[in-house]
Amino acid sequence: MTSQTTGQLEPPVLAHLPLRDDLRGLTPYGAPQLDVPVRLNTNENSYDVPEPVAAAITEAVAAQARHLNRYPDREFTALREALAGYLGHGLRPEQVWAGNGSNEVLQHVLQAFGGPGRTALGFTPAYSMHPIISAGTGTAWVDGVRGMPGDPFTLDAGRTAAQVAEHDPDVVFLCSPNNPTGTALGLDVVEAVYDASRGMVVVDEAYAEFARSGTPSALTLLPGRERLVVTRTMSKAFTLAGARLGYLAADPAVCDAFRLVRLPYHLSSLTQAAAVAAIEHVDALLATVEAIKEQRDRLMAELPRLGLAPVPSDANFVLFGGLADEHATWRDLLAHGVLVRDVGLPHHLRVTAGTPEETTAFLTALEKALKQVPDGSPATTEDPR
Ligand code: PMP
Repeated sequence: MTSQTTGQLEPPVLAHLPLRDDLRGLTPYGAPQLDVPVRLNTNENSYDVPEPVAAAITEAVAAQARHLNRYPDREFTALREALAGYLGHGLRPEQVWAGNGSNEVLQHVLQAFGGPGRTALGFTPAYSMHPIISAGTGTAWVDGVRGMPGDPFTLDAGRTAAQVAEHDPDVVFLCSPNNPTGTALGLDVVEAVYDASRGMVVVDEAYAEFARSGTPSALTLLPGRERLVVTRTMSKAFTLAGARLGYLAADPAVCDAFRLVRLPYHLSSLTQAAAVAAIEHVDALLATVEAIKEQRDRLMAELPRLGLAPVPSDANFVLFGGLADEHATWRDLLAHGVLVRDVGLPHHLRVTAGTPEETTAFLTALEKALKQVPDGSPATTEDPR
């Protein structure tokens, strides 16, 4: 049984199952899905899918309905062509791979290149699913150290590459812009990590479209680097989290490796049709990106006025520090109908940049919460953070 609020598995059930030993005691991904007015905890796009895009998706999906008797195109050919066209950088369709969310393509990477007896390295704090997908595929996880003097969240080339050389992992995870810090990586870091490693190097660029202008993409480094993988998603800038479509760009041989581990026909005809139709309207689809970046920058400007310390962000969210008791503030915000994310970093919370109204609701609730004396009440056993 899974709790509706926390997503946590209830221990007594698991204890009686012949579960894999290496999964015992682990905590599943569990961002709460609560029905509150202002949901700013999972970095979704707060805007609905634009009407012309929704109409195109509806038409494309309807056209597939009569043909659902047949399996989908296992090679998702039209989708790979559309994604290669969107990514640019001279990428060919055979360099593109897709799955049900970028979580699935990350899982394909670990199924093919990680697994029992192998190791993955990431730099904490980063995307919490990297270690969880590693665990699911039996890949040992090594927590690398993020930060440099005076800056706890930035990676520099020398320190990062040195950790890769020390741990000699089979898969390295970089994340740019990084979740939960919003920090974008210099390409010198990716190059140094690639040169220091013998394994696969994954750059998770789920939030790339929100980066400030001039922020480079690791896509530019793909030529000549056959162990480099750059992952993207339609869940954030593309407003399509519910469609579940993530993708990556890599050497064609790497995509061949994924054919060994994916389930046959893993992308349904409906998903393929919806994604292709959406990409045909890419300009309308990405129309909200600038508005969201404005709210991100507004959060960056406003939070210091409340005595808080936002971390410079290239994503559609802001991590901010300076909270006396982040658990109490999280609860107070929720009491005001605003759901943000407690990412487990002391004195910090993370908030998604949404609509102007959502930013206002968040800032107003936060100001009230900060005036409240922390109640000090202990977290309940069903703490839904
Ligand atoms: N990478 C990062 C850094 C993320 O933050 C997320 C979602 N929060 C994902 C990948 C996965 O997104 P999806 O499976 O929806 O593509």
